[in-house]
Amino acid sequence: MPKIINSSARLRNFVKEFGEDIFSCDNAVLFCKVCGIKVSAEKKYNIQQHIARGKHIQQFNIRNQQEKPKSQVLVTDETTDVEERYIANVIIGTLEVDNPGKIFLLNSEVLEKANHSTISKLFDRSIFILWPEGVLHDNILLFNGESRKNFTTPYRINLFKNLAPGIPLPPEPIITRWSTWLNAVNYYCEHFLHIKNVILQLGSDDALAFKHAKQLVENPEIEANLIYIKSNFGFLANEITRLETSGMLLSESVCCIEKVKQQIKQASGKTGETKKLDDVLNKNSGFKILTIISNILSGQKERNFLKI
Ligand SMILES: [Zn+2]
Repeated sequence: MPKIINSSARLRNFVKEFGEDIFSCDNAVLFCKVCGIKVSAEKKYNIQQHIARGKHIQQFNIRNQQEKPKSQVLVTDETTDVEERYIANVIIGTLEVDNPGKIFLLNSEVLEKANHSTISKLFDRSIFILWPEGVLHDNILLFNGESRKNFTTPYRINLFKNLAPGIPLPPEPIITRWSTWLNAVNYYCEHFLHIKNVILQLGSDDALAFKHAKQLVENPEIEANLIYIKSNFGFLANEITRLETSGMLLSESVCCIEKVKQQIKQASGKTGETKKLDDVLNKNSGFKILTIISNILSGQKERNFLKI
């Protein structure tokens, strides 16, 4: 029966063309595996029409969602036990679209010390527990080893407290908040000798950050630079915090900026040039308007009134 042979070959071609995961066929019928129904295959157009239908697309999406293995998030959580041993816990969570994922403890180990190498090995051992047959690397979306930073803190904190009694622990500047950096400068300037002492004691620590810190505190320019920044610009941290206060009067805010401008102008040395600050304020038309409004509100003569 040549007609059926032709038809069968044609259907097989359609299956190949549109995907074997979507269609299957026998000698006479094209079958959509997604919808679980027979699909007319008289013309190619019929198949195109079928896969463009909302119902097919919906079923297709549902199937994909079910088949897709859930993405895993691994997080290390480190702590010390009563004997001051370092305990690393690896927590695994699933990322789900519509609801909060499940979280459970995957692995818990005592580590001799915490550094990049021991944490990486812990990570390897943990994912092997999860996938003994072969690691599905693509499913791991995130490995948060950041808390490693705090991992050895009990030891470091003790050392710090012994070597620098009565001095608060170093601040942790927030990268996007300038005042926190300036506060850090003020802190390191005030306690430089104590901090230097602690860092030199921690020199044997294998964390790369401490090697860098050691080089820095031994650089004679650092202390001089800290003193320069603190004495000329240290006040900025307070002014930034003031400007962030809600409910501050407009006149107070403008006054604060003017004061900052004046103080920066007084800063000695080339770094104290106010060109950058002037440029920023000149380009900021909103600030100009606010200054004019503030002057009007405080009863000062304002020639630029009509420019608003
Ligand atoms: Zn279908």
